[in-house]
Amino acid sequence: MVYALDPSRPPVWRSPRALQFGVEAPDIVLEDPSIAEERMVAALAGGASRDTLRTIAAAGGAAPEAADALLARLSPVLAAGPRTGPAGLVVLDGAGPTAARILALLHDAGVDARAGLDDDDPALDGAEAAVLVAPYAVAPRRHQRWLRRDVPHLPVVFGDRAVHVGPFVTPGDGPCLRCGDLHRRDADPAWPAIAAQLHARPLPGESELACGAVSSVAAGAVLARRDGRPLPTGVAMRFDRRTLRWSEQRREAHPECGCLSPAAAPAPLVRARPGTATADGPWAGPADSRAATS
Ligand SMILES: [Zn+2]
Repeated sequence: MVYALDPSRPPVWRSPRALQFGVEAPDIVLEDPSIAEERMVAALAGGASRDTLRTIAAAGGAAPEAADALLARLSPVLAAGPRTGPAGLVVLDGAGPTAARILALLHDAGVDARAGLDDDDPALDGAEAAVLVAPYAVAPRRHQRWLRRDVPHLPVVFGDRAVHVGPFVTPGDGPCLRCGDLHRRDADPAWPAIAAQLHARPLPGESELACGAVSSVAAGAVLARRDGRPLPTGVAMRFDRRTLRWSEQRREAHPECGCLSPAAAPAPLVRARPGTATADGPWAGPADSRAATS
């Protein structure tokens, strides 16, 4: 195995006898490092194996075990090793500049991210995560496809005043997107009828600035989740297009949804029940079907 320093936390001399790692919040300070330690640090900048470091330590007049001690000391500032297990597919569910930007950012980070996959593509079943880009509200048929497959999914929803990124829905853990629709219906009984008219519209306010800001946060959320640093459960990030400020919003599960109940997983395939669209909100078939074909 090759060890290397995390390039984002470079070694910097803070005095002739003290070497710090990192600048804004130094993680480690080596006081009065030996010649052997200095040489090992220089080797770690480019990457070195433990055996190589032991050889360098011995050549510098230190015991080979000094390499082990230094690696242990510097472990917080070593670059992350290769991931364990295969990295999964991330699916972009959506179109337009923001979806394309998120896709490009994920590719740049080395993620196998793809867009334009059909709903019956077998690759969807093994997806690690999905990102949904939508106007105003995510159509039920779109988030159901990920709930059914038990795939975590991140909504990026453009509204007329703000863009919401999240919450990152992990099926069975925290509120789903239907929960959000039910809460909005509670606040405004007309919401199901309104939402059904919005699912197929173009993204509002998809400016270069909003696209850039939102894409970075969305791609960052996917990467953070991969690295075991997910957004807190139920938390959405709101980007106000007027003030250009971000804020956090906490979403709660809705008691009518049942998405956290084992009996409710996987999410049911809700069929059209004529006359009940407003009762069940946009989760039910009729309203969504109208939007999808309009
Ligand atoms: Zn729910």
